[in-house]
Amino acid sequence: MSDTARMALTTRTPSFRCRYLAWAAGAVLASALLGLAPMAPPAYAFTGGNHERITREALDGFEPVSLDLLANAKSGAIVADDQGPYFDLGPMHCDNADFLQSPPGAAPYPRTREQATDELLACVGSSVARFKRALSLADGLVDPDGRVRANQVDLFAPCDFDDSDRGTAKCNVLEHLGRGWHPIEDFYSHSNYADEHDPTRPVGVTNPVGLHRTAVAPFFDIRRYSTLGTNAWRAQAARLIPRDLTTGCYKDFQSDYTLADCTGRVMHDETLAKDAAGSSRSLIGDNFNKARTLATRDIARQWDLFRAALLERYAAKNRGSVMVCAITHDHPDRDC
Ligand SMILES: [Zn+2]
Repeated sequence: MSDTARMALTTRTPSFRCRYLAWAAGAVLASALLGLAPMAPPAYAFTGGNHERITREALDGFEPVSLDLLANAKSGAIVADDQGPYFDLGPMHCDNADFLQSPPGAAPYPRTREQATDELLACVGSSVARFKRALSLADGLVDPDGRVRANQVDLFAPCDFDDSDRGTAKCNVLEHLGRGWHPIEDFYSHSNYADEHDPTRPVGVTNPVGLHRTAVAPFFDIRRYSTLGTNAWRAQAARLIPRDLTTGCYKDFQSDYTLADCTGRVMHDETLAKDAAGSSRSLIGDNFNKARTLATRDIARQWDLFRAALLERYAAKNRGSVMVCAITHDHPDRDC
């Protein structure tokens, strides 16, 4: 959620940027979608105040340093997907899942419903992959007898969220949680799921219909999808996607590694994004708060489900509940 940051990046020297991104995008996108570890990306500084606010409001039971590692607007895991080459990977931000039903007789929309659904499923899939990594790396937080591993939870050294999994178990788990939740937060900002269109103008490509949904999206059933094969969960999720759901086109890499061509499409910045309270779509009705409220509710759900998955998977010797304590507490060796 950082229009300004995106603008700043897109004005960097384009020839270098395109060459660099063409090289980086394939490796990082494939790695992120498959849950593998790619090379470390360079870090740029971005603001992510709304990501921070949503994440802080969604989470309960976190002590201050641990919460800051997740939620900090500049350095938290929640904004790691807005940094380096990840910033330009559409599925990390639910971009380019745009589709509009054309009226009878009008030219067809440049993208099909199936293409839009594929991009949204790539976004859901990036979250599923992160969930699985976080769940399996949590194993390193606690020894086989159920005791916290002090050297894996220590917060004296800062976490390096470079997607290498070379940090402590605690840093690694927080990183994958943050990177997996980022697209979900973005979804509510970048889509018409929770918002409404401008009632004073005709509905169309510059004013796509708002779906005004007030419950979290059923197709971010990340925990359950993490237990299913890819084809199975994709089929289930696809059936839950409303036909008139759209996100915005942003000139970044789509899931097939091509740069989005936004000609004739619903635009991210100009039309649909509610990344900041002052965007044109945010200013319609109470759109900004609607998006923020559902994003917050969804991250609360995702944290509940991750906790439940830890308790279930690591039930022996109560390891799962010690893991929850190790993730949320700043001095787990003393307090868990
Ligand atoms: Zn984003």
